[in-house]
Amino acid sequence: MDPGPTDPVGDGLAASLAAPLAAPLAAPLAAHRTAHLTDPWADPLGLAQALIRCASVTPEDAGAQAVLAAALEHLGFTITRLRFGAVANLFARIGTAGPHLCFAGHTDVVPPGAAPWHADPFGGELRQGVLYGRGACDMKGAIAAFVAACARHLHGGAPRGSISLLITGDEEGPALDGTTRVLDWMAAHGQIPDFCLVGEPTNPARLGEVIKIGRRGSLNARITVHGTQGHSAYPQLADNPVHRLVRAMAALTAAPLDAGTDWFEPSSLQITSLDVGNTASNVIPAAARAALNIRFNDRHSGAALTGWLRATLAQHAERFDLDVAVSGEAFLTEPAGQVDTLARAIAAATGITPRLETGGGTSDARFIARYCPVAEFGLVGASMHQADEHVPVAELRQLAEIYQAVLGAFLP
Ligand SMILES: [Zn+2]
Repeated sequence: MDPGPTDPVGDGLAASLAAPLAAPLAAPLAAHRTAHLTDPWADPLGLAQALIRCASVTPEDAGAQAVLAAALEHLGFTITRLRFGAVANLFARIGTAGPHLCFAGHTDVVPPGAAPWHADPFGGELRQGVLYGRGACDMKGAIAAFVAACARHLHGGAPRGSISLLITGDEEGPALDGTTRVLDWMAAHGQIPDFCLVGEPTNPARLGEVIKIGRRGSLNARITVHGTQGHSAYPQLADNPVHRLVRAMAALTAAPLDAGTDWFEPSSLQITSLDVGNTASNVIPAAARAALNIRFNDRHSGAALTGWLRATLAQHAERFDLDVAVSGEAFLTEPAGQVDTLARAIAAATGITPRLETGGGTSDARFIARYCPVAEFGLVGASMHQADEHVPVAELRQLAEIYQAVLGAFLP
């Protein structure tokens, strides 16, 4: 169903969309309809259902971005489909002037998993005001809320400034052919926004509680210390790599990496594995291995931590291998200016003053932060990646209202 990067969104698509959307839109909208909701996209429910019905488990797109593209095209956005490798991505923009606000997110989802579901993970079922399905909160619901907010904001005509959407199909996977490559394209084509809002689920229990203004970085290291194998009764003829590795690990964990900052909790180094695999009781092994993960705040960089690991290992081992993978650097968006604007818009729409936080794992915001200020605000994340992922329809609609308020604040 994916037409590919060079194929414009086809005419046949509107017809194919009409079927899945007609049913969900008719009934739920009736109760919610207000005078300004004349555009069918102004309610996020139908689009959220249509997106959930595309089984877009990374890296499959399963037609999800065509559904989204059709909705955005209807609102007047110019769509650029960007396929990199096996991954479908999409950039959509309306307006050419500044300020330029970008909504970012992903249409891919994690698999349903082994735990049993009580609803079809790709059915988009509504039960007693709750929408079920993989991606309901992470984050097809938020993408539908982006579109609904745009539909409402654009109801009065062209935007003052520009609105864009940066959508990837590779957030839950390796993230190599997704947001980072779309950003390269955006930079090459003069499309870098003034501010980017990522719609990842950020709220623990209620909409309005938390904006993420940064994320910790993450580094994984695999270490092999080499020694000289020998008889445990004749250690003078051997060089025990286990002793060296244990001393090195003790040195690495002897002191905290830092005491935290105003916005970040202390960085943390966790040894995740120590392996020798020696089945003999009288043999000093030839090598010993360890693995560790460091979640680090913005007082560190992946390169500096790698240098520290190497120097510490060298104090305890003459021969070692160190393989490091930095999956993301830490970043922080200054909690002023645009973050204030965002927080005020959320507070006005919810009555809750959001907390500014930097916790959790990595997200695609780590890539966006290299280009422009970025913050994250989305649905309540309690059921993300779980069986029976769901979102109350009222919450979905409230998120659309919040995003509409954000558009009003950034593009007054
Ligand atoms: Zn997500």
